[in-house]
Amino acid sequence: MEVILAEYLGFCYGVKRAIRLARDSASPGRASTLGPIIHNPQMVERLAQEGVSTVSELAEMPDGGTVIIRSHGVGPAIYREAEERHLTLVDATCPHVKKAQLAAHALAEDGCTVVIVGEKKHPEVKSIYEWSGEGAVIVETEAEAEALPSCGKMGVVAQTTFSGAEFEQITAKLLSKSNDIHIIRTICTATDQRQKAAIELAGRVDMMLVIGGKNSANTTRLAELCAEQTTTHHLETASELQDAWFADKKIIGITAGASTPDWIIREVYQKCQKK
Ligand code: SF4
Repeated sequence: MEVILAEYLGFCYGVKRAIRLARDSASPGRASTLGPIIHNPQMVERLAQEGVSTVSELAEMPDGGTVIIRSHGVGPAIYREAEERHLTLVDATCPHVKKAQLAAHALAEDGCTVVIVGEKKHPEVKSIYEWSGEGAVIVETEAEAEALPSCGKMGVVAQTTFSGAEFEQITAKLLSKSNDIHIIRTICTATDQRQKAAIELAGRVDMMLVIGGKNSANTTRLAELCAEQTTTHHLETASELQDAWFADKKIIGITAGASTPDWIIREVYQKCQKK
């Protein structure tokens, strides 16, 4: 079986950095990430074995413990609470996410109604929202943008992993909502690179395998884009591969989300080669 890896796949800069910072802070029972470090259960489990557990709120942290802020970032209240509780805070917020948070904050300070283009339930979007001042809104679709009331000054930022094309469509609708609109395209190139490479590969193979957490937004998006081109399966680990998928297939393409560890990609690649 011919198996081709996408030109860009797997861990992005922000995730690699977050995992390195978490590992550097490992201390069994004392170091925890606030929420899972990335949307990949296998990686979360591996880190737990190395001495970095997961808490869902700071109240679960022991006094004097170390809390690691994951790449999605958090709002200002968490920094205040950590300081009040004298916790050591290791900030692994991806610098690109930080840039979106700071841009949203600056726009709000400048009197803009901040519009965040992104998925409402995504933790990164929630973190940007918390830096965006009163009256901020999250918009996920063109229809939602169209339904917004007009406002004086508007500032627009994006979820870093949002599709570039959809961002353009949504901002086109927003242009009619304000005569004083400031658009900051805070989309990260890692996402664009992975999406473009996946679409290109999907266009020339018989089947695409998209590896990554089922709860990972960027992996799910990659799977949707590939499915528009060819037969596509979204899997978390090599154990999910099914022989029936490979019947009549000659060339297989593989891509993986920005939160998928190398060892899982390698395992899937090697198993596919043997089919
Ligand atoms: S996808 Fe981009 S913004 Fe998100 S963590 Fe990775 S490098 Fe940072």
